Amino acid sequence: MKPLITGIHHITAIAGDPQKNIDFYTGILGLRLVKKTINFDAPDVYHFYFGDEQGSPGTVFTTFPFKGARKGTKGTGELTYTAFSVSKDSLSFWIERLKKFGVLVSDVQTRFGDKLIRFEDHDGMGIELVANDSDDREGWTYGPVPKEHSIRGFYGATLNLRSKDETEKLLLNHMNYRFIGQEGERYRYGTEGKAGDIVDILVNPAGNRGMQSAGTVHHIAFRTANEASQLEIQQILMENGYMVTEVKDRNYFKSIYFREPGGVLFEIATDEPGFAIDEEEAHLGELLKLPDWAEASRKRIESALIPVTLNPEKYV
Ligand code: ZN
Repeated sequence: MKPLITGIHHITAIAGDPQKNIDFYTGILGLRLVKKTINFDAPDVYHFYFGDEQGSPGTVFTTFPFKGARKGTKGTGELTYTAFSVSKDSLSFWIERLKKFGVLVSDVQTRFGDKLIRFEDHDGMGIELVANDSDDREGWTYGPVPKEHSIRGFYGATLNLRSKDETEKLLLNHMNYRFIGQEGERYRYGTEGKAGDIVDILVNPAGNRGMQSAGTVHHIAFRTANEASQLEIQQILMENGYMVTEVKDRNYFKSIYFREPGGVLFEIATDEPGFAIDEEEAHLGELLKLPDWAEASRKRIESALIPVTLNPEKYV
C-alpha cells in the first residue's frame, strides 16, 4: 500500500512587493508562474504559485505578497530555509547567475554529502539550492534558465526548532517519515529520503522565536494522494491529539491544517486535481483565476490588486 504521505506538496511564504516577487521566482530562479489567484482567506491579497511546467506537487513555492509589509525575522518555530534541487553540475551556473542579478550568495557548503549554496530573495526569504544526482524530475524552462540547470522542484526544508522530540514523534509515528541522519544540531528525516521529501530539524534550544511577516514561510504542505487518504490522515492526527482543521477546498487541491508541536503550521494537501482544472496547461498563470464564490466580486477584487507582469526577457 502506498504511504499516506509521500513528501512535500508545496511551501507557502509571505512576501512584500508582488512584482518583485514574480520577477525573483520566475525571472531569476526560472520557475513557472502556474497560478495567479487570491488568498482564499484574505481575498484582497494575491496568491502566486511558482513551480515546474504543470505545477507538480513537490515543486510549488507559493506566496502571499503584501506591498509595503515589514520584514519578518528568522527564528525558532519557523521553517527558515526552503531548499530547491538542482543537478549536480549546476552550482557554478547558479552562483554566476545569482551574482549577475545582485543576489548575495554563500560559499559552497556540504551537508550530508551534497553541495549547496544559500541566499535570500529581496524580502529576506531563506533559499538553498542543493546539487545532487538523485533527482529524476526534469525541471522547466521558458528561456532564462536552461533546462539542464533548472530547478527540479523542492529538495527539502529546514525547521528551526527549540527541541526536536515532539516534532520527531509526529513525523515518525504519524506522517510516514523516517530518521535519516544527524550532522551537528541538524536532524534529517525523509519519506524515501530523496529530493522532494527531506525535512531537517535544526535544534536551537536558546533561539529567539521568529516573527512571521514578509520574507518568512507561512506553512509547509505535505502531499497525499487524494481525498480518501487525506481523511485517513485527518483521523489519525485527531486520534493522537492534534488539532486539525476541517477539509478546505483550495480549488487545485484539498487541504487540512494543524500546528506541529514546535510551532510550524503544517498542511496536508491532495495531489488531485492540480492546476489545469481552470485553465489550459499552455496558459497556466496568465489570467487572474478566482474561486467560484469570488467571481461575483471580481471587479472589486481586481481593482484592489496591483497589476503584475512576467518579464523573462529582463532575466536572460
Ligand atoms: Zn498551503
